[in-house]
Amino acid sequence: MEKTPREEKILVLVRLRPLNEKEIAANEAADWECINDTTILYRNTLREGSNFPSAYSFDKVYRGECPTREVYEDGTKEIALSVVKGINCSIFAYGQTSSGKTYTMTGITEFAVADIFDYIFQHEERAFAVKFSAIEIYNEAIRDLLSSDGTSLRLRDDPEKGTIVDKATEETLRDWNHLKELLSICEAQRKIGETALNDRSSRSHQIIRLTVESSGREFLGKENSTTLMASVNFIDLAGSERASQAMSAGTRLKEGCHINRSLLTLGTVIRKLSKGRQGHINFRDSKLTRILQPCLGGNARTAIICTLSPARSHVELTRNTLLFACCAK
Ligand code: ADP
Ligand code: MG
Repeated sequence: MEKTPREEKILVLVRLRPLNEKEIAANEAADWECINDTTILYRNTLREGSNFPSAYSFDKVYRGECPTREVYEDGTKEIALSVVKGINCSIFAYGQTSSGKTYTMTGITEFAVADIFDYIFQHEERAFAVKFSAIEIYNEAIRDLLSSDGTSLRLRDDPEKGTIVDKATEETLRDWNHLKELLSICEAQRKIGETALNDRSSRSHQIIRLTVESSGREFLGKENSTTLMASVNFIDLAGSERASQAMSAGTRLKEGCHINRSLLTLGTVIRKLSKGRQGHINFRDSKLTRILQPCLGGNARTAIICTLSPARSHVELTRNTLLFACCAK
């Protein structure tokens, strides 16, 4: 009997970063603590006795000292590796600026690619091709991070492939060194944008996509039923403060902080997906969700790593991130 396709829940992980040097120098208090593998607690004696909710539980929570390698192995490795079996997947980092999104996603991307290459070496019975692309979405404009020409890319609806980013550079990934080379090109491209507009990285989303295609060697070059193709996406989102106003009326909005359409739409899409895909899902309302539609929901596998600052001065944004995380689970 055929199994009905599994509708996967979104895996929600929470990662607390340690206080940084600046915060320590400023005598900041660290108010959050992971009390076990799944629960994070708000510990502020000044607030005790108030009705401020204090314990939040998720699939996994990781304390500040936990290395990225462990977050990857424990939380996201299995999802990332499902790409070699033909299953689309997405791994997001969500959190306020400076909470550790880039730190976390950079490590996870590198570990995942290393494991994908390992898998390929161990499975000589199949022929694999791995393609790498990287884009940035800033103010609903899409930029190719592998090209320096700076023009914005368009989305196109392809009858077979769905929504594609037209003319995005795709490099066939040769090996680990090639990956490092491409990642440093992306980083340099992101930096160029950053000097032009100094809070760009807090406003933009970065999507690194690996597309893995494989076929049985005996069928190489022929049309056959054993060809598998899927993508894994590593998404470093804009700072979650860009969605805060709509998430919580109580949040003060910094001057000039404008709402990010892709981030807001992603929030709505994720909330709907987590409730079991009932009714219409508004994937088409933003560039980010249009691009990621095939890699969200349905048979696709999704993990969201919500990154948190422990600092007392960040408590409102930290709480907003946790509320988002609660909606996603
Ligand atoms: P974001 O991308 O969310 O704005 P970053 O990833 O740039 O934040 O992190 C801000 C700073 O904190 C960086 O200097 C980074 O190295 C450091 N950091 C973030 N997470 C951790 C962590 N888990 N352990 C140690 N340092 C971290
Ligand atoms: Mg960042």
